Amino acid sequence: MRVDDCIFCKIARGEIPSATIYEDGDFRVILDLGPASKGHALILPKEHFKDLCEADSVVAAKILPLAGRVGQAMKTELGASGFNVVQNNGESAGQTVFHLHVHVIPRYEGGPAMVGWTPGTVDAEELDETAERIRKGL
Ligand code: AMP
Ligand code: ZN
Repeated sequence: MRVDDCIFCKIARGEIPSATIYEDGDFRVILDLGPASKGHALILPKEHFKDLCEADSVVAAKILPLAGRVGQAMKTELGASGFNVVQNNGESAGQTVFHLHVHVIPRYEGGPAMVGWTPGTVDAEELDETAERIRKGL
């Protein structure tokens, strides 16, 4: 499926230039124009899916191994000491481009904290109740 006004469809198909670091039949991997750190990459499926919930499972299954390869290259070639794999679904989760994509963000020794949260608290009853509700939807 192709969405005519989707910028990531156009980039993935090579209709808009990008700093491409990898391409195959399913994906184009580009550098983010607003990088969180040097080398911040985006894995773009060539097929349009709005988010992970809509993604074809065969395509989705290929993303994590590819993210691992990209992250490894960031370590060996850019001197990153680690990397984050981030994938936002929905506006409330920070998604701004509604074409499925996965961020691979290299991390460097002494660099700023980026992906994190403040741990909250939960009691056993709430844990059980929440787990039960999610289980029902799977
Ligand atoms: P998200 O917030 O998860 O939807 O991420 C969208 C990302 O796409 C952001 O990190 C943007 O900096 C990046 N971005 C938006 N437009 C472009 C573009 N034309 N080329 C490269 N990166 C882009
Ligand atoms: Zn698209």
